[in-house]
Amino acid sequence: MSEAKVIRQVETHCREQGLRLTPTRRRILEMVLEAEGPIKAYDLLDQLRDEQPKAAPPTVYRALEFLLENHFIHRLETLNAFVSCFHPEDQHQGQFLICEKCQAVTEIHDHSIEAMLAKAAADQGFEPARQVLEIYGCCGKCRDQ
Ligand SMILES: [Zn+2]
Ligand SMILES: [Zn+2]
Repeated sequence: MSEAKVIRQVETHCREQGLRLTPTRRRILEMVLEAEGPIKAYDLLDQLRDEQPKAAPPTVYRALEFLLENHFIHRLETLNAFVSCFHPEDQHQGQFLICEKCQAVTEIHDHSIEAMLAKAAADQGFEPARQVLEIYGCCGKCRDQ
């Protein structure tokens, strides 16, 4: 799915659900989508300040919170960075393959993994708040080199 298409889907979703996609929230989403790889909050703030010199950290954090809550982006916990999600129509947790050589991140979108982990947690009487599965290694491209 292209970036423009993701934005359009997010816009439609927000309209249908009555969510407020403010210009700043939309802009932050665009920046995460346009980033080559995982992007950190302060890099987003830097970029935003090029356009809105008065932008403060809470502006960025609040926008990120909104985008996370609605599953429009994902947070990689270990890297403390954000990645875009190309399946905004489908609420899901993320599973990610992260290349330690080139930092490429690939999202696996597999509901059976989610269901399996949710069941394993439930079996322990545990109620998960969020679930981010990060798998580190070497991507196909790097392995070919
Ligand atoms: Zn996703
Ligand atoms: Zn790689």
